[in-house]
Amino acid sequence: SNTILLDKRPVGTPELSDFKFTTEEVPALQDGQFLLETKYVSVDPYLRGRMNDAKSYIPPFELHKPIVSGIIAEVLESKNDAFNKGNYVSGMLQWKKQQVSSGKGLMKVDPRMAPLSAYLGVLGLTGLTAYTGLMEIGKPVQGETLVVSGAAGAVGSIVGQIGKILGLRVVGIAGTDEKVNILKSEFGFDEGINYKTTKNMRAAIAAACPDGVDIYFDNVGGSISDAVLFSINRFARLIICGAISMYNDTSMPTGISVQPFLIRNSALMQGFIVSNYEDKFPEAIQKLSGWMKEGKLAYNETIVEGFENIPTAFLDLFSGKNKGKIVVKV
Ligand code: NDP
Repeated sequence: SNTILLDKRPVGTPELSDFKFTTEEVPALQDGQFLLETKYVSVDPYLRGRMNDAKSYIPPFELHKPIVSGIIAEVLESKNDAFNKGNYVSGMLQWKKQQVSSGKGLMKVDPRMAPLSAYLGVLGLTGLTAYTGLMEIGKPVQGETLVVSGAAGAVGSIVGQIGKILGLRVVGIAGTDEKVNILKSEFGFDEGINYKTTKNMRAAIAAACPDGVDIYFDNVGGSISDAVLFSINRFARLIICGAISMYNDTSMPTGISVQPFLIRNSALMQGFIVSNYEDKFPEAIQKLSGWMKEGKLAYNETIVEGFENIPTAFLDLFSGKNKGKIVVKV
């Protein structure tokens, strides 16, 4: 098989049986087209939302059609002057081993500048999300305290490091002791909290943030984020980037009401979608690659091998098997 379709809309936590492997023919090249071979596939939490038949900021996936995500591919054959055999491209492509493209929405990437997989992570949407979310909504000021949830994941680990580069106190929340250790030893976070073993999150956050929380970069939502509210400072900024703890909910979630916390602290809570900040992408890539070259910004990846393991890698996001950006090498 060479193609992965969405076969069923997941109910609750997605399962392997929601996906179907099939074989589709690769059409002959027309003028202006080229043939791509998939090299690296990004699996991301937001894909879960597109599997529901619900209105959102991007349309849902169609049933029995190939899933689409961020992919790095190599040009094998070309009838398009702008894309030559041997070029590598990045863009939203189908979960297929090979596919034909006209180049629309694709960007060339240079394997001599960075490892190809990095264009799906720190130099791709992950890095752009971390940088633009933190800078544009968080508006960090040196000396402030930043709390990051999903801190050992792709976006979270970059957010925390940018916080350290900008002189913030950074506290990360993650799901295992190993991840908490990595936050401190590899990424320079000041403190880490394991939300799975901590009984009183509210007290743990207050203890880790003696000066309160000025910026909360939220990747997970739910009760972890509720606990953070108790420590926010006057004029705090809360960046609502993700809510992975709620993506598989089948009923309307309930929790504490945020309004009194926001009013009392004149705090800002804002939903964030990275594509709203396209005008900031060149600046973001320049900063991120500069910090990488200076050795100030590290990234880690969980590389899963094999086209057949793409759905499993996606499911692994919800059990936290990944550290840093999870990418499938085809
Ligand atoms: P991650 O690499 O962070 O992977 C997901 C992580 O979420 C897991 O490793 C796991 O870590 C954690 N997690 C899973 N289930 C739960 C749960 N129930 N409660 C708490 N944590 C959980 O993915 P990304 O960095 O790619 O994405 C992070 C978040 O950012 C997602 O919510 C995503 O939707 C969002 N996002 C939003 C964008 C936007 O434009 N708004 C763009 C890109 C990402 P652990 O072991 O710590 O539980």
